[in-house]
Amino acid sequence: MNPSYERRLSKTLPQIHDRIAEATDASGREFESVRLIAVTKAHPVDAVSAALAAGLTDLGENRVEELEEKVREFGRDFATWHMIGHLQSRKARRASQLAHLIQSVDSVKLANRISKFAQEEGITVRILTQVNTSGEHSKSGLDMASAVDDILCVAEFPGIRVEGLMTMAPFGADDKKLISTFRVLRKIHEKLRTQGDVVGPELSMGMTNDFEIAIREGSTMVRVGTALFGART
Ligand SMILES: *Cc1c(COP(=O)(O)O)cnc(C)c1O
Repeated sequence: MNPSYERRLSKTLPQIHDRIAEATDASGREFESVRLIAVTKAHPVDAVSAALAAGLTDLGENRVEELEEKVREFGRDFATWHMIGHLQSRKARRASQLAHLIQSVDSVKLANRISKFAQEEGITVRILTQVNTSGEHSKSGLDMASAVDDILCVAEFPGIRVEGLMTMAPFGADDKKLISTFRVLRKIHEKLRTQGDVVGPELSMGMTNDFEIAIREGSTMVRVGTALFGART
């Protein structure tokens, strides 16, 4: 194992835990109500080894090829693997085989592909639906105006379980914009949850620069890379 990742995590992980604890305290929530997804994308397998050794078992990758490489190295069930990056339909099958949770289902078409595969295999694939709540054209995700209808449609697809919703905030946005980006996702989620258990309780929002705000807005999963492992090259 590369000792530098271990050394780094021994400093950064307690800091992240403290920041999560402060944010949950401030919003009257339990520390355990937020899951830390360690985003190992663009870091070598040594980062994964160090994360596992530090007790981090939820790992995030944004490319199927890299996910595959790391799953091959460590075994699928050695961690809970989260696919968090935009996924082309033709890679839906592979992603469904590798990831335990596909967080980045950003179109009905992609959900349909995953459903087809799940039915062939006789399995249930757990997903989050990604919504573009910032309105930025560069961000993928379901359109916020039609998100409720789209997600209700996706939730009916056989072989898929929608565990909740995911969003990404604009990079470098001010607090006001961040709050509104996360709040829109929560409102869409609340609307869906009034329909019963059609979607699960998860809200995946918050990254290195904005996870405290996301927690105050109800996040149940924060996806943190840079603050844990350093800058990506
Ligand atoms: C890269 C990435 C993250 C982690 O970002 P950091 O700013 O490094 O914490 C989180 N979510 C998604 C979807 C990402 O692509």
